[in-house]
Amino acid sequence: MTKYLIKIIVFLLIYTYSCTNGEDNKFNIKHVYATMETEPVASFDDTVDDPCIWVHPTDPSLSLIIGTDKDENSAGLRVYDLSGNQIYETEIEKANNVDIRYGFKLGGDTVDIVTTGERTSNTLGVFKIDSDNRSLVNVAAREIIVGITVYGSCMYKNVYTGEVYAIVNDKEGNVEQYKLFDNGSGLVDASLVRTLKLPGKLEGCVADDLLGYLYIGEEDKGIIWKYGANPSDGDIGSLVEDEIGTHLTADVEGLTIYYSGDSTGYLIASSQGDNTYAVYKREGENSYIGKFAIVDGNNIDGTSETDGIDVCNMYLGANFSQGIFVVQDGKNDVGNQNFKAVPWENIASAFNPSLDINPNWDLRKY
Ligand code: CA
Ligand code: CA
Ligand code: CA
Ligand code: CA
Ligand code: CA
Repeated sequence: MTKYLIKIIVFLLIYTYSCTNGEDNKFNIKHVYATMETEPVASFDDTVDDPCIWVHPTDPSLSLIIGTDKDENSAGLRVYDLSGNQIYETEIEKANNVDIRYGFKLGGDTVDIVTTGERTSNTLGVFKIDSDNRSLVNVAAREIIVGITVYGSCMYKNVYTGEVYAIVNDKEGNVEQYKLFDNGSGLVDASLVRTLKLPGKLEGCVADDLLGYLYIGEEDKGIIWKYGANPSDGDIGSLVEDEIGTHLTADVEGLTIYYSGDSTGYLIASSQGDNTYAVYKREGENSYIGKFAIVDGNNIDGTSETDGIDVCNMYLGANFSQGIFVVQDGKNDVGNQNFKAVPWENIASAFNPSLDINPNWDLRKY
């Protein structure tokens, strides 16, 4: 009996310690807080989806968060500064996912290109960043209608050849990869270079530009597929984790890559079903590291039911000097949906051992 009581007391002590220590001990989920949230969007519905981060070439504090709003009536891309103020918006159709790549040769210039899947017209939206006005300029050469009913989308740049691709997918498991090119008049056109067929519903995807991999989430199974990112890499994929439900709870949503160097870093996935973010090694077999959640703190509500995510390792001014992690929040406490941002070092230091922090590795130079 005494032995039993001691066991209970020890358990309670450990449980109390773990709860006050900023971590959910049972699942070992690390807890972090957001330090910035963007202005809510105009729509009451579940319309905010996916963010991407643009790093300003000369003044990192002027970097931007570009997000999607897929509302039927007011859809478009929303551009926020690092304080969360919306400073620009496009009036395109249902923009679902968004991604960005640096250093695209266009009309004798080198520009940063943003693509989005537009679900009403079933097209690929293509924009370039106007660095001076911190806005977006439509540079699509034509209405680029894709061959599937577009849902998710992402980009890949082969840093060794400079070729830039847009990848779109649908709810039936189809993937189309398009090569982007200057049409000769300073506008961007796209040609289909590869198709893939996966078993089920897709959305979140991300490419590793240096290691040459394309990761695609099969969302309602909660699994992540891994393919070679180049068109010549064929159509055979493998699973990041063989067993369904090992660390991800469906839907698996946004995927993103943290670069801590040329060949190291992390693959991060939004595990929507349990309101957490799972961290895997970028290199090798993508071994699982751990999970974290963004909880209430700093007068900003925590995040839940997250769709898209993005991370950036680079110095982005005083408030995000060690990088930034940005997520869509499915339930904003006051107002409509928005994006939340966490300094990367707060996530890195929540883990033991700490995750790598490298604000100096420069994705822009590739
Ligand atoms: Ca949603
Ligand atoms: Ca994205
Ligand atoms: Ca989804
Ligand atoms: Ca929330
Ligand atoms: Ca809020």
